[in-house]
Amino acid sequence: MRALAPYQSGLWLAEYLSIRCQLCRIYRSSSQHHLTNNIPNLKKASKRLGRGLLCTHCHHSITWLPNPFLVDIAPNITLPIQAATYYDYPIRQAIRAFKHHEDMTKLAILVHALRQLPRPKGCHNTNSVIVPMPTTNPRLVKRGFDPVSILSTQLSKHWNIPLWQGVERIDDTNTQQGLTRSERLSNLDNAFALTQMPPVKRLILFDDVATTGASLQALGRTIHEQVSHFYTSALPSANNYELSAYALAHGSQ
Ligand SMILES: [Zn+2]
Repeated sequence: MRALAPYQSGLWLAEYLSIRCQLCRIYRSSSQHHLTNNIPNLKKASKRLGRGLLCTHCHHSITWLPNPFLVDIAPNITLPIQAATYYDYPIRQAIRAFKHHEDMTKLAILVHALRQLPRPKGCHNTNSVIVPMPTTNPRLVKRGFDPVSILSTQLSKHWNIPLWQGVERIDDTNTQQGLTRSERLSNLDNAFALTQMPPVKRLILFDDVATTGASLQALGRTIHEQVSHFYTSALPSANNYELSAYALAHGSQ
């Protein structure tokens, strides 16, 4: 058995031992609790919030599940992108600290956000896989860790749907930040390649932040094109593939 990554033990402590809200740090069960000291209600609330890493007050101060937005990946084929929340306080700060400063203490609130994402209808562990947004090797080496892979592992646990890493990122562009939409799109041309054919028909793409959706769009387009191309001769019904996309947050960088 592999040893637990350091972040996993931290998350375990936050989940099972800490009784403080991961955002306001107020004791979730104290009598000064924002909402209630009524024990049955508190139990119900923490059950509803999925082990309650945030207190009810903080949970309700965040806008969850904004309407999905659509991007085109082929003529007449759109990819719906569902985010857990907006790229706004406090998720924005948590993502930045986690991604850019490897602040693992922020993982708990991000996991709380991930758990707001409903499992896609009809998807389960034998007919679907989660496809994490791939990162480039130089980027991985520079950062030393891959935030999207850590987050998608948590999403995989939450939905009980396996990860599939059959796509590689082949561009050597540094970042999408600060580019216009058209610059982003051309930057992403040919950025991805399939290294194997998907094992199932339902592919759930995942990225941490979807700004314009350009990265998820390019990933979806690549998968659609390469899978259709591969199957054109062998399997007439190649378009039975179902792609959907999820992100932790939607908004501007
Ligand atoms: Zn709180």
